[in-house]
Amino acid sequence: MMTKSVDAANPVPVAGLGQRILGGGEITRSEALGLFHIESSADIFDLLSWANRIREHFKGNKIHLCSIVNAKAGACSENCSFCAQSSFHQTGSPRYGFVDPAPVQEAAEEAGQNGITAVGLVAAWKGLNEGPMLDEVCDRVREMKASGKTRPDVSLGIIKSQRVADRLKEAGVECYGHNLESSRRFFPKTCTTHTYDDRLETIGHLKQAGIKICSGGIIGMGETREDRCDLAFALKEIGANVVPINILNPIKGTPFEKNEPLPVLEILKTIACFRFILPRQEIMIAGGRTVNLRDAQSLIFMAGASALMVGNYLTTLNQPVEKDLQMLKDLGLDPSWDKHGFSDQAEAGCACGEVGKVTEAVAV
Ligand code: SF4
Repeated sequence: MMTKSVDAANPVPVAGLGQRILGGGEITRSEALGLFHIESSADIFDLLSWANRIREHFKGNKIHLCSIVNAKAGACSENCSFCAQSSFHQTGSPRYGFVDPAPVQEAAEEAGQNGITAVGLVAAWKGLNEGPMLDEVCDRVREMKASGKTRPDVSLGIIKSQRVADRLKEAGVECYGHNLESSRRFFPKTCTTHTYDDRLETIGHLKQAGIKICSGGIIGMGETREDRCDLAFALKEIGANVVPINILNPIKGTPFEKNEPLPVLEILKTIACFRFILPRQEIMIAGGRTVNLRDAQSLIFMAGASALMVGNYLTTLNQPVEKDLQMLKDLGLDPSWDKHGFSDQAEAGCACGEVGKVTEAVAV
């Protein structure tokens, strides 16, 4: 049964905003906030159908797939409240050092077989400096690139020197995952061992090096709808090419372990609002998808998602890749994608084409 719209006195002009975006226009923060505050299920489904139209208009039926390989796990020096890999939390999460070439090549092989566009090399640490670890990262990137199976992306934390970003670019990194996590206002509730500005500085070095940016955040951490809205506008401002949306999976032993899960319609509405604000970007649904959305997973595309993180997501399990591929086929969606294409730049005049793509709910 549809719930009665609480917005009846002040209806949000969803269709008008949708038409404006289809015509190449943009929406303001206050208009976007109106969308985030839609309450009735009938109005939310109306919003999803417009988000679907916007996705189809700018993305066609292409769905970009990414996966990740956890290159270094656990014992991270940072205190991110959502993360099982922080040394500050007792989660029993696995710990291992930087991986050998073989598992990375295996991940690339599997990605090639499943048509996955990119594999992100992800490490649980604060960041990357010049030295032997950077040499090793660059070796893994070169090996993955040379295999020709998939695009080597990385998500390696905070970068404080332009030289590190330049060396990653030289090794063949096309896209770097580095989430803003939430709004500037909410960020200190997620982490205090580094700052929102550390993250912006990293993104600046990466863009300067000519590396594409994959940056998004996590919802369900206790942030408000205003925080989600401000995150989306911040991602627009930095020119993120790919925007991963992670949905908190509260992990025992972390400060967020008792967080109430977001309702499914609230999650779908948030994805749709991101599509309205970021019509041309790849919007990728990443960690926490299966546990939070269950049988409603396929509705993410109607909500405007154009990319999917497949395989297991660090400490969060997703449904098997074969099931995801079947889901796309059933919906008439096409996961084949040019490994070097970034569809947010496909249209002339796209602002983010001038600036400078997987991630991590990972934070990194
Ligand atoms: S999110 Fe990344 S930086 Fe933060 S604790 Fe986890 S692995 Fe470390």
